[in-house]
Amino acid sequence: MSVNQQAHAGPPYGQPQPGYQGYQQPGYGGQPLPGVPHSQYGAYNGPMPGYQQPVPPQGYFPSLGFPSKGSPVSLNSDTSSLAPNFVGLLRAPPASGALPPASGASLSSGHPVYSQFGQGDVQNGIPASAAQMHRPPASQPFLPSSAPTPVSQPSTFQQYGPPPASAQQLSNHMAGMTIGSTSTSAPPPAGLGYGPPTSVPPVSGSFTATGSGLYTPYTSSQGPPPTSVSQGLPLAQPPFSGQPTSTQRLPTQVPGFAPPPSSTGIGPSLYPPTTGAPRPSPMQGPPLPGQTVAGPPASQPNHVSSPPPPSTMSGPHPGPPPMSGLHGPPPPTHPPQPGYQMQQNGSFGQARGPQPSYGGAYPGSPNYGSQPGPPPPPKRLDPDSIPSPIQVIEDDRSNRGSEPFVTGVRGQVPPLVTTNFLVKDQGNASPRYIRCTSYNIPCTSDMAKQSQVPLAAVIKPLATLPPEEALPYLVDHGESGPVRCNRCKAYMCPFMQFIEGGRRFQCCFCSCVTEVPPHYFQHLDHTGKRVDFYDRPELSLGSYEFLATVDYCKNNKFPSPPAFIFMIDVSYNAVKSGLVRLICEELKSLLDYLPREGNMEESAIRVGFVTYNKVLHFYNVKSSLAQPQMMVVSDVADMFVPLLDGFLVNVNESRTVIASLLDQIPEMFADTRETETVFAPVIQAGLEALKAAECAGKLFIFHTSLPIAEAPGKLKNRDDKKLINTDKEKTLFQPQTSFYNNLAKDCVAQGCCVDLFLFPNQYLDVATLGVVTYQTGGSIYKYAYFQLETDQDRFLNDLRRDVQKEVGFDAVMRVRTSTGIRATDFFGAFYMSNTTDVEMAGLDCDKTITVEFKHDDKLSEDSGALLQCALLYTSCAGQRRLRIHNLSLNCCTQLADLYRNCETDTLINYLAKYAYRGVLNSPVKTVRDALINQCAQILACYRKNCASPSSAGQLILPECMKLLPVYLNCVLKSDVLQPGPEVTTDDRAYIRQLVTSMDVAETNVFFYPRLLPLTKADVDSDSLPAAIRNSEERLSKGDIYLLENGLNIFVWVGVNVQQGLIQNLFGVSSFSQISNALSTLPVLENPFSKKVRSIVDMLQVQRSRYMKLIIVKQEDKLEMLFKHFLVEDKSLCGGASYVDFLCHMHKEIRQLLS
Ligand SMILES: [Zn+2]
Repeated sequence: MSVNQQAHAGPPYGQPQPGYQGYQQPGYGGQPLPGVPHSQYGAYNGPMPGYQQPVPPQGYFPSLGFPSKGSPVSLNSDTSSLAPNFVGLLRAPPASGALPPASGASLSSGHPVYSQFGQGDVQNGIPASAAQMHRPPASQPFLPSSAPTPVSQPSTFQQYGPPPASAQQLSNHMAGMTIGSTSTSAPPPAGLGYGPPTSVPPVSGSFTATGSGLYTPYTSSQGPPPTSVSQGLPLAQPPFSGQPTSTQRLPTQVPGFAPPPSSTGIGPSLYPPTTGAPRPSPMQGPPLPGQTVAGPPASQPNHVSSPPPPSTMSGPHPGPPPMSGLHGPPPPTHPPQPGYQMQQNGSFGQARGPQPSYGGAYPGSPNYGSQPGPPPPPKRLDPDSIPSPIQVIEDDRSNRGSEPFVTGVRGQVPPLVTTNFLVKDQGNASPRYIRCTSYNIPCTSDMAKQSQVPLAAVIKPLATLPPEEALPYLVDHGESGPVRCNRCKAYMCPFMQFIEGGRRFQCCFCSCVTEVPPHYFQHLDHTGKRVDFYDRPELSLGSYEFLATVDYCKNNKFPSPPAFIFMIDVSYNAVKSGLVRLICEELKSLLDYLPREGNMEESAIRVGFVTYNKVLHFYNVKSSLAQPQMMVVSDVADMFVPLLDGFLVNVNESRTVIASLLDQIPEMFADTRETETVFAPVIQAGLEALKAAECAGKLFIFHTSLPIAEAPGKLKNRDDKKLINTDKEKTLFQPQTSFYNNLAKDCVAQGCCVDLFLFPNQYLDVATLGVVTYQTGGSIYKYAYFQLETDQDRFLNDLRRDVQKEVGFDAVMRVRTSTGIRATDFFGAFYMSNTTDVEMAGLDCDKTITVEFKHDDKLSEDSGALLQCALLYTSCAGQRRLRIHNLSLNCCTQLADLYRNCETDTLINYLAKYAYRGVLNSPVKTVRDALINQCAQILACYRKNCASPSSAGQLILPECMKLLPVYLNCVLKSDVLQPGPEVTTDDRAYIRQLVTSMDVAETNVFFYPRLLPLTKADVDSDSLPAAIRNSEERLSKGDIYLLENGLNIFVWVGVNVQQGLIQNLFGVSSFSQISNALSTLPVLENPFSKKVRSIVDMLQVQRSRYMKLIIVKQEDKLEMLFKHFLVEDKSLCGGASYVDFLCHMHKEIRQLLS
């Protein structure tokens, strides 16, 4: 295999170096790439009529890491819907990111190098017998016409909602949404309308006809309409460049709802017409940490609701939640309407009447539009009348799930993350790689500040794609490397302008003109386009990769393949719980599934093993040995690696010795009495080993306890829940020593990524132990009170996926922007040594970096705004690559255009990360208040500038932000910002770190879990039952529900569920016999059991972590835990209900406007 040989051809990599000199490449003119193993990737080799696509991902989770709900996994398919076991290999996409000469990127890595690491051991051996399930190397020619056309989605793409019936309902419902709005032209939501509602009579004749009549169904050629923004917009203006949308504003934007004033405690006072209203000063400027909003904080749920709910906000509540006052079954004042109940309410069993439209909810005020009648009697705001996440999700699926999302048009808002859709790259990066809070950026800083809408992109550079979509092509420009702008070093991309007959190009980011290198010259056609436009990915696609030259490598040397080091805690708890034996057994087979690149026969990754308690044990597993050898290092104060040759080995070559070692480890420590552990020395040992081997790599550390043994990085138990809600609460999130920050810095310099599997039985200070993991781009997994029986499936699935998933090493990411905006802030698991470069020792396919942008100049509507994300990294085979993602956005001079092109899910992703970082430095209450304030300002700005004048009693929300309040409330109530009594300090630190790396789909389901009525599932179809809203009053005692949030799956069983269903699902004859100790559902041969298990399996595959299954019986004590996730309800620890919070937001907005 040329890979390894090549890797060693050069001088050792990893010698003491002051910084990443390699990244400061002087230009493109590196050395030839003698050993670059590009053969199997079909690297691009010049202006040929086509180029090969890299080998697509293989087997394993085609949809794992592709977390949009409703992945293309058929429930009936043989393997794909099963748990992600060893079905195949991790895809090894030809990824490569690019990172330009970081201006002074400096990683300190001056560490001594243990020179000759046994290179002989790196020879590749016999192909792993386990190489299976390769997808054929689909070398498809890249021709515009022959590009794989994502056909309309196959039938296996299940719509989660009930398709046909609901569509109608949706339009009705949505039509109802507009009633409360002031607009006279309020057509149904974008893409939904398709004619007037049929089954449900319009509540008010005035709007229905108008809306549906105006609406034009969206066609793909036209580009999708701005998701929901075009509600009320007769599509006269697609939101694209070239068609300034600015002229049309308000009358269209009228979604929103108008709760009867009295119901929310909001007086009927008239809202002054927008035109004359002085701008409230609070809307200027970002919320400051200490800035508090007038009015009660959200944490006080009682602020607005009328009648006031029982004061349940403080303290633990041992009993059932006192929801009754707030959400009891409403009086049957709203009789169900025909054709409605099954969709929306039929399964809830309670007396709530369905709300086909807002009008229905308030019989007394059929027309609260611009002319509200006399205030109706005080009445609780009906949950069915406020924006429903389920409805929005269903609408988007109906409207946008059937057509591919073609990225050729600037500023298009993609479908929601909950919608299944295919992406066709025609010049902009897929939303799987980049999602933005807004696809239309205000032209000026003043406008941006006025709106308070954060401008941010959530970037997942190595995202897994569904099998139907093409991986980024790998472009090889040979020794000259990628073509770049001379000034800003942006990489060649579809937006560069070729001029002077093709001899020069003008940079789309900085406008600098650069000579086209002779080898890259091509003539232009009559439109000014290069004639090889379609032959070159970097000219025609949004995402692609370049093979990096040696200039992009540390020390100007090509990297070695990375190594994986498994480091197992063998202290008393780990041994006694069976964990050590479990890990060793698993590794015996798992090592055959290390990530490999393309169609390589075996992984280039070498492996090594360490065990530890108070001391460290290194193992020599050299292939020539008959038995492994152990070397103990008991002086942990100055960690070193006692052996070089034989520590990191090729799995196939050392297979026998490794197997023997893994057999022996559990026996060797079976009788251990050692309870104390060290931790920092373990990381140091791994780091030193990688340094010695001159490679990057990943440490897999399996750890059980607070490291109290005498050693560097020793910790003390400083947990103190009394700090909650004090100014010192932030210390719970901060590391207790800076030792680990320094260690993390060293790890990043070496490309040493640390993955941490924690098995605590008590506090072990995740906030501190996680520092290195966090800053090196690693992952933390936590299995509290680990028990073999109930937790091993989850742990093993996580471990398998973690070991197999695609990962890049030694990664540096930079985001370039066109003149006018620039990246100013970054959120995620990484390290930064300067203000522009995001450094990650490792970056896997699940990791997301959120980038915030600020204006530094004016933007123009004509040129729009461009982003280019360049990620430079080392592949799992040691290939240095640049992965480039480009995205073009529109710019606007009218606020209405901004509000029409926002994406709330992405906004929430950003806001959650912003808040979760804020708790490191500010009291959580301050953070919560700032969030509320910012969102109130966003919505107030809309109301003031974009909505038609209307009564102040109305809450008017931008169509595409109508879920902002409900989702924001979920963030505010989350464990980090408002912990319940059962949430531990470690839980909070853990969640905080998890969320920071989540993509938009993950934060969406994490904050607003998916709740499925299992008893409504159609056992004969692949589809999922329609989700319902997260509120207790939606649950029926006679049904069984599944709730998932990406970390847990709850199966809730009502007390009145039919005995037959219980028998079919649990194999017991009565409710009382159901054991809530089950961690899996029993395998029973009946359609219901099969259906439910297939749903669970499918959900597991969609998420990046294996979710813990918890059975909850109604009225059982575990139900408290479950109810915590019913996020529309008031929470036990004081979090407001959705209804109450909405009222509160309304009040905040009105205060800002008055
Ligand atoms: Zn430039």
